[in-house]
Amino acid sequence: MEDLKCPLCGKWNSATVQECTHCGWMFNFSGQTSVEKNPATENIPKYRIGTITKRTRIRWAIFSAILLLFFLSFHIVPSRLMIFPKENLSFSNTFITQKDINELIERYNNAFFERFSIQQEPLFKKLMEKGVIYDKSKKTD
Ligand SMILES: [Zn+2]
Repeated sequence: MEDLKCPLCGKWNSATVQECTHCGWMFNFSGQTSVEKNPATENIPKYRIGTITKRTRIRWAIFSAILLLFFLSFHIVPSRLMIFPKENLSFSNTFITQKDINELIERYNNAFFERFSIQQEPLFKKLMEKGVIYDKSKKTD
């Protein structure tokens, strides 16, 4: 059995398929004009082709999961080239722009009674801790 090259998208399919698994092209088996040997895979047993694809998919899944976990667990401040862990796993505030920082400072400056509660916000605490924002009035020198 040979692999089938799809005449529409040019991708290779297992010889057992009726239509291209990539684009849905229906193979015409009566003419057999679209059947071509794939030099890259003709000597590789079928089960190995399947294994490689599966392994690649698993790698991508793991890579995506790591990336997702990274975005869930870190704050990224591009303007300061800073990355620091989040308080909890969350999608919020993954990227903290200078605008976000300015808004937070402005909110803090305009607040009076709420200042204490803003100080308790995990993001505010973290930014304070990292020196991204600081309270000038509390500076000792
Ligand atoms: Zn195709």
